[in-house]
Amino acid sequence: MAANTMRILMIEDELNLVSTLKKGLSEQGYAIDTAYDGEEGLYYAQHEPYDLIILDLSLPKIDGLTICKEIRSQGNRTPILMLTARSQTEDKVLGLNTGADDYLTKPFSFEELKARINALLRRKENIELPVLKIGNLVMNIQKHEVLAGDKVIDLTPKEFAVLEYLLRNKNKVVTRSMILEHVWDYSYEGMSNIIDVIIASLRKKIEIDKSNKLIHTVFGVGFSMKDPS
Ligand code: CA
Repeated sequence: MAANTMRILMIEDELNLVSTLKKGLSEQGYAIDTAYDGEEGLYYAQHEPYDLIILDLSLPKIDGLTICKEIRSQGNRTPILMLTARSQTEDKVLGLNTGADDYLTKPFSFEELKARINALLRRKENIELPVLKIGNLVMNIQKHEVLAGDKVIDLTPKEFAVLEYLLRNKNKVVTRSMILEHVWDYSYEGMSNIIDVIIASLRKKIEIDKSNKLIHTVFGVGFSMKDPS
């Protein structure tokens, strides 16, 4: 668990917002560091490795735009999600031009924040890990292509996303609700049979050699992909 816990730095001076978000994100399994002013935030960003930075635009000591510019000028590509209380287009455009990857205008819902974070983290993983493999199955994320041996496997977008998630977690067990949250960005209460339908279809498509099971059902828990022995 510890090895793949995502670390998020939150630079935000509204104490209530920080404590709400910190609680919510911790419950999602993220490790959160917080900084309440720009100076401290910039220091953390420069000295600790993070998977994502949530950055408020107006901050004491050093403002968000300056922090963003500073981080990027040092070659740090950590995804930055900018928070802004202002809804003017100029601020958003300025933020994105300065190197932020996305922005949210306050007030926002926690669900929306979570969805944006998931999207940014997925994008980051894609840059770092373009090819995923198991047995003779190869997924090339950038080409959006799946091969079993030299046969191209045609997948729907949801099948591709579920397979990608399983491959990223190979040799681990993933639950239906984990798949739902990652692939749909929110919980589908009572819709978990969607997963079973997609898994069944994936098996038909990728397990060409029937003696060579790739997706294993872990009864009562979920699914696991394992390298064939
Ligand atoms: Ca602020």
